[in-house]
Amino acid sequence: MIIGIPRETRAGETRVAATPETVKKLAASGAHSLVVEAGAGSASSLPDSDFQAAGARIGSAEEALAADIVLKVRAPTAEELPRLKRGAMLIGLLNPFDAATLASVAATGVSGYALEWLPRISRAQSMDVLSSQANIAGYKAVILAANTYSRFMPMLMTAAGTVKAARVLILGVGVAGLQAIATAKRLGAVIEASDVRPSVKDQVESLGAKWVDVPYANDEERKIAEGVGGYARPMPPEWMARQGEIIHERCKSVDILITTALIPGRPAPKLIKAATVAAMKPGAVIVDLAVEQGGNVEGSVLDQIVTKNGVKIVGFGNLPALVATDASGLYARNVLNFLALSLNAKSGEFVVPKDDEIIKATLVCENGAVVPKS
Ligand code: NAD
Repeated sequence: MIIGIPRETRAGETRVAATPETVKKLAASGAHSLVVEAGAGSASSLPDSDFQAAGARIGSAEEALAADIVLKVRAPTAEELPRLKRGAMLIGLLNPFDAATLASVAATGVSGYALEWLPRISRAQSMDVLSSQANIAGYKAVILAANTYSRFMPMLMTAAGTVKAARVLILGVGVAGLQAIATAKRLGAVIEASDVRPSVKDQVESLGAKWVDVPYANDEERKIAEGVGGYARPMPPEWMARQGEIIHERCKSVDILITTALIPGRPAPKLIKAATVAAMKPGAVIVDLAVEQGGNVEGSVLDQIVTKNGVKIVGFGNLPALVATDASGLYARNVLNFLALSLNAKSGEFVVPKDDEIIKATLVCENGAVVPKS
């Protein structure tokens, strides 16, 4: 078998789906050959020579995309699709929520595995690309906020007087939000956080942040708020209005707001209205991590910093790509662990376990057709 690692070609995508470390493991059995497109790792500071030393051959885009197993970060582009081989295994973030993307991948005849659909079970944790990348995004959001903010993050007592610690509010405390709390804490900020899921309160408090409570009016609201499979569900408009009022009041005194709220397969919930942005202090900074899904903040613009009434709204998409080397490193290990379900790295034996829960959940297309999901 040939395992191909193409260079990612989407704008701003700096990651790569394999690293010299994972290539070495995949090459260990000697049963498979690896072809890495020239320059595939360069935006992640992983030179071709390191891939070669790990056992890969450096080749062209055509060769990497025509492999039997193709490891990608993002869904193939229109230029890449015709180069895929019918019957090949394609693994990556295939954007399965977008029907047009999925149909175009299916039409190539590959067996496509979308890592967005890994089930949140303990056996799949080592393959969970959404978690590994969200962790990086949460970290980078705070670093970007600190870089954009024109004051210190920690409290300082100097001969020239005292500087107050920054007040940070984090909305949406999943993987990214928790890492944002931990990172802001290390920088000395005073932190508050909120989420729709009640189970998050203890995690927020254990990291040293204050929980901002949005009460449930009845059992039905509480039940919806618990979410499903670890993910949130859309909340009723009454709860959203209550949340909006509480957060509006908190926002008047915060210096940095980081929003990370997402609901899989849906537009991001709008948590911050323009009136709330207008009520914030001049010099405040907002980082909207949900900007690629439509944004949590009214007025955030993809890949731009916009200023409204002196408040800067940072709308950079794909934050993991800004921490390329570690993002690739963790992503590549996730992919290696996923591939290990089918490929025995020591013996080289390759059998896709079609009945495995993880394989079934992630298989989105085969034999030219989209695999329907319930
Ligand atoms: P996510 O990226 O889908 O969403 C981010 C956060 O936004 C979530 O905490 C969600 O509750 C919150 N949110 C959604 N709508 C909101 C609203 N209207 N107001 C406020 N907050 C809102 O979530 P995620 O980070 O991928 O993970 C969610 C949970 O799943 C986490 O608790 C995580 O620990 C858990 N998880 C479990 C496993 C596993 O068991 N294998 C793996 C990964 C994550």
